[in-house]
Amino acid sequence: MRVLKFGGSSLASVQRFTDVINIVKQQSDLDTICLVLSAPQGVTNSLVELVEIAAEGKAFESRLKQLTERYQVLVTDAVQLYPSMETESIQQLINQQYKLLNDNLTGIQLLRYCPDHVKAQILGLGEQFSVALMTAMLSSLQLVCQALDSAGVIKSQGDYLNANADIGLTAKLVQQAIADSQAQIYVFAGFISTNLQNEPCLLGRNGSDYSAAIIAASIAADSCEIWTDVNGVYSADPRQVKQAKLIDKLSYDEAMELSYFGAKVLHPKTIGPLAQFHIPCFIKNTLNPAAPGTCIHDNGNGDSLVKGISSLEHLSLITVSGPGLKGVVGMASRVFSAMAKAQISLNLITQSSSEYSISFCVSKLSLKVAVKALEQEFELELQTGLLRPLIIQSDMAIVSLVGDGMRQHRGVAAKFFASLAQARVNVVAIAQDSSERSISAVVEHSACKNAIKVCHENFFSQVPSIDVFLVGCGVVGQELLQQFKRQQALLHNRQVKLVVYGIANSKALLLQSEGIDLQHWREQLAQATEPFSLAALNQFVQQQHLTNPVLIDCTSSLEMAFQYADFIQSGFHVVTPNKKANTASFAYYQQLRQLALQHRRRFLYETTVGAGLPVIDTLQGLLNAGDELQAFEGILSGSLSYIFGELDAGMSLSEVTIKARELGFTEPDPRDDLSGMDVARKLLILAREAGLELELSDVKVESVLPEGFAQDKDIAGFLAELPLLDKEFAKRVAAAKAQGKVLRYVGEIRQGKCQVVIKAIEPNHPLAKVKEGENALAIHSLYYQPIPFVLRGYGAGAAVTSAGVFSDVMRTLGWQQV
Ligand code: ADP
Ligand code: ASP
Ligand code: MG
Repeated sequence: MRVLKFGGSSLASVQRFTDVINIVKQQSDLDTICLVLSAPQGVTNSLVELVEIAAEGKAFESRLKQLTERYQVLVTDAVQLYPSMETESIQQLINQQYKLLNDNLTGIQLLRYCPDHVKAQILGLGEQFSVALMTAMLSSLQLVCQALDSAGVIKSQGDYLNANADIGLTAKLVQQAIADSQAQIYVFAGFISTNLQNEPCLLGRNGSDYSAAIIAASIAADSCEIWTDVNGVYSADPRQVKQAKLIDKLSYDEAMELSYFGAKVLHPKTIGPLAQFHIPCFIKNTLNPAAPGTCIHDNGNGDSLVKGISSLEHLSLITVSGPGLKGVVGMASRVFSAMAKAQISLNLITQSSSEYSISFCVSKLSLKVAVKALEQEFELELQTGLLRPLIIQSDMAIVSLVGDGMRQHRGVAAKFFASLAQARVNVVAIAQDSSERSISAVVEHSACKNAIKVCHENFFSQVPSIDVFLVGCGVVGQELLQQFKRQQALLHNRQVKLVVYGIANSKALLLQSEGIDLQHWREQLAQATEPFSLAALNQFVQQQHLTNPVLIDCTSSLEMAFQYADFIQSGFHVVTPNKKANTASFAYYQQLRQLALQHRRRFLYETTVGAGLPVIDTLQGLLNAGDELQAFEGILSGSLSYIFGELDAGMSLSEVTIKARELGFTEPDPRDDLSGMDVARKLLILAREAGLELELSDVKVESVLPEGFAQDKDIAGFLAELPLLDKEFAKRVAAAKAQGKVLRYVGEIRQGKCQVVIKAIEPNHPLAKVKEGENALAIHSLYYQPIPFVLRGYGAGAAVTSAGVFSDVMRTLGWQQV
């Protein structure tokens, strides 16, 4: 014999009833079936609401009518599909239920109270309707079926609303009922039972699964199948985690832990009876009967370490603490007996190793009763200060990691907690089941979804993600988006998910939850109206549960640079070619690094010096390995490299400046390059990297232009006046040549001081050959001497700069993988 249980989701409409019938028909050809039914989807909730409304003294009539109408629609639809169906007994049942509900609800309304045994009778009515309708439908197909009275044969004890089965007695009664009959299909109402006094008792919300297990155990069934609306048990609730993976096999223990810690697909009490009698359990999908489903049996498959992640929500954490707990025998037991007496089940318990406190979770609904019970039990201790006032933390949730394989492996807990840290979730309490099959953390309810998503990503999908927000759509920003677009597929093949979620310019911010189509970002950004703000980005990241947000600042704005601290504190990595933050005050420079360390976020700015050349990283690498910067000299500006190279070749300063500008080597206003401030900023960044505590004002700068030159002119006016300087420059070039030297615009760090100078240098000097827009950096260090370490290559240009930013963006990944 086999037990097949269909949940409310499989009985939501007559179409679903028909799906169930098709499955049952096929299986009943092979074996005798015990069919266990829930109420049609939503009916139990309607009954709960009716009781609540009445208990508040409110009018319930219209709601009651709605319920009756729902029943009627199901019957009418059924008759259309099954014309020969007998409906008289169903009509009678509907009328009886209406009367019973109307009478009881009127009483409840008067009393403003509903005793649990009355509630138990009311909430179980939906299951009885399902049985009546299903039996009539099956009979109309000439299938030999018989409805058995669950309330009569399933015996239980304990709480009226959450009773435990008496399997011995139930087995006797079920077997007797079946022995007298020759049916092919026996139909049971799930959820309901009676106690030894024949009072109605429910088996807990979602308890039809448990009914199925009780019946399976009672008849020693060959299998127990739980039919629902998903293909089986997944590694996480598939409604919450899109990437959840179907589990083909689970051990009883794993299934028990998963369901106990909130996997709604199975009621937590279901596994007990099945495991006791070694009955295999299958979770199957009514909408996809061909799918193999999940098999739960003695052994799961040990191949995967962690099987699933589940969460239990709407909890409160109670902490009992105080000197009275320390070393006093029996205090813990008093805490737990007080809870047991008040019929409160505890979801998780932890005790501090000093025995100074005990914490445990209870359902939010039982908090009041729990607190009252504890305050009564410990009245004296609380008064005398032996116990501190109870600490209550509401709106908590438990996130649990479950898997038999965790026992033999180290490091799972570490990875779990690292994942929670990565999701920026604060862990309030921790517990590990002594069999090491599950680890649980109590977290704030609002953080629960994020916690599950990140844990799932780290334990199951292993596709690390980079969630990009780019500000500044100038030459570098645009080129970077182009490079992202080209490389996305390749990165995907390498198991990296890079998605651009936000793009902003000075006018607006474009955000898209599916990621922005990089083919059409310009048009879409043009339509965007919301301005860029940290608050908007923060809200988006939270709503989308993004775990690795990266802010890329491709502006040259000081205002943006001053927001980095807030971005890092909000959990963003910051990647930028903008020099402003690193050349603001030294205090801000230090603050950014401290915040990055503290929040485990990265602040990366490789392209602020030498564009794509690996300058910062190389220098950091050397210093980490104990090297020391002794001196530095470099050509740090692409435009000045070009200009000084051409001066050598005989061009005049004014000619070459105009040409460099035309070629796009200079800033729109060439004075920005010729002033030397850009080089000074780069030099300052290098000096600070090397440990020097300097400000921008400490850098001595020799401008190419005399002080105040053409200051009040516009660009054209400035260029027109530039020839005035040609003669003087030609003289300097010639003087250098006469000594066999060349003029170069050099940034230097020597003896802790920085300067930017026009320098005549020897022909065999590493910087002498550097022209045509190249940069060169010579690092004289403890390890690199007497010959310096030289980096040389293009130090400007959209392609190389963007590639450098891209490479920094990829480096945020290392911090994501645990
Ligand atoms: P039924 O009406 O059949 O009893 P339930 O709604 O009680 O169905 O249970 C099925 C639901 O359980 C699924 O739709 C799914 O959202 C939820 N669920 C939670 N955790 C899991 C999990 N780990 N695997 C599968 N489903 C899960
Ligand atoms: N109908 C009941 C409930 O909604 C029992 C069940 O569906 O398992 O809780
Ligand atoms: Mg269910």
